Amino acid sequence: MLIDCPHCQSRVNGTVKGESKVHDDGGYGIKQVLIECPACEASLLGSSEQYPSDYDGNDGRYIYSWSALKRLWPEPEDGPDWEIPEIASVSLDEAKRCFRAQCYSAAAVMCGRAIEGVCKHHKASARNLADGLKHLKTAGIIDTRLYEWGEALRKHRNLGAHASTERVTKEDAQDLVDFAFAICDYVFVLNAKFEKFKKRQSKT
Ligand SMILES: [Zn+2]
Repeated sequence: MLIDCPHCQSRVNGTVKGESKVHDDGGYGIKQVLIECPACEASLLGSSEQYPSDYDGNDGRYIYSWSALKRLWPEPEDGPDWEIPEIASVSLDEAKRCFRAQCYSAAAVMCGRAIEGVCKHHKASARNLADGLKHLKTAGIIDTRLYEWGEALRKHRNLGAHASTERVTKEDAQDLVDFAFAICDYVFVLNAKFEKFKKRQSKT
């Protein structure tokens, strides 16, 4: 079965050493599979879920398949891209940690802090995050859609940061973390990549 080996830093076709299967309430199967990397012999643990991949019209039944293996151990690194400057990446990292610890309001606050970091990096001399986002938009650093994501982050940051009985839900927190990562990737990683790409094109 295919799985990512962190030691070989590539996708390998590993040998199955064992598996344990369970069914969730919906009747879908979930299995954990112990794999041995064919190259370095490391043990890797992956997880796969059943999903309806096809529909048999004659039988009136769904046909189920197993999803590709997602590595559970060694835990995949899914931290911020190294090109994102520290002023934003430390908050992104903490946002993810808060989310994993089920501290959803704290995760929202950290997402807002990451975007504040983006503003600071771009010297958006703003008094607050709302001004900072406007500055990023007028300077052409983010487009309208990212501005809207940033605004959503800002509002939830406020919800998380100020004393109230309202809670940030798990779903909202997940989206906010995704938005914060996407904004930083766009501003620091993709923009730089596109600039380099344009430079290469102009040379040829
Ligand atoms: Zn390996």
